Amino acid sequence: MLGNNPNYVLAVEGLTVSFDGFKAVDDLSFYVEPNECRVIIGPNGAGKTTVLDLICGRTKATAGSVNFKGTELLNKREDQIVLAGVGRKFQTPSVYEDLTVFENLELSYPRGHSVFGALAFRRDQEVKARIAEIAETIFLSDLLDEKAAFLSHGQKQWLEIGMLLIQDPELLMLDEPVAGMSVAERKKTAELLNKIIADRSVIVIEHDMGFVADIATRVTVLHQGKTLSEGSMERVQNDPKVVEVYLGH
Ligand code: ADP
Ligand code: MG
Repeated sequence: MLGNNPNYVLAVEGLTVSFDGFKAVDDLSFYVEPNECRVIIGPNGAGKTTVLDLICGRTKATAGSVNFKGTELLNKREDQIVLAGVGRKFQTPSVYEDLTVFENLELSYPRGHSVFGALAFRRDQEVKARIAEIAETIFLSDLLDEKAAFLSHGQKQWLEIGMLLIQDPELLMLDEPVAGMSVAERKKTAELLNKIIADRSVIVIEHDMGFVADIATRVTVLHQGKTLSEGSMERVQNDPKVVEVYLGH
């Protein structure tokens, strides 16, 4: 078992889920290192979203193991997995439209024990400083007082990434974060991901191969719930099996 190897943040081994006999994820194993951006690509229905659902506890696995920093996640609830340090962004942005950028980030700041008086003031300052730092990272420093409803689709996606970053996850999982974004927004999102892997690992599901080339440390190609190919972008792009089932289309 490699699960407890300190070189890995995440060790997925033999992961399987069966929906009425259909194996959407089938004996899948892969390992994510610290500061790695792993991109999962593959045809529609390959099981990509289901893999993230299994890791974050939304879907219960039929078999296998998901070891995060030495802790088994498969027997944990979704909220426990978030607390353990795994953040997950879904495909559609879910920000609070009626609240400002600042308020959206403030709401996502992890709640500690309640504090009073001078201590509460210090905590307020801490929260504000952290929100300013995150807003800078997600290119929204000038829009802190803007209602989220007025943001572009891309800016909403960034805000939601910020709402996860403020909780400082060690593993962040993003499902098709640049879908619907302009070319300029895609470039900035790549910049954002390259910046945040300095402090964490990221798993991204993506179709845009230009974007994948800009962000991937390694690529896993999923097909029928299994790994079809894995390695550098160059390696998987030149793998005839990948060209046949995915890139050739
Ligand atoms: P991808 O994200 O790669 O496009 P998904 O992970 O969404 O693929 O889906 C993989 C397969 O599993 C699809 O055939 C899908 O219909 C099926 N599937 C996903 N979730 C469920 C579920 N909760 N119940 C039954 N089938 C599901
Ligand atoms: Mg999907």
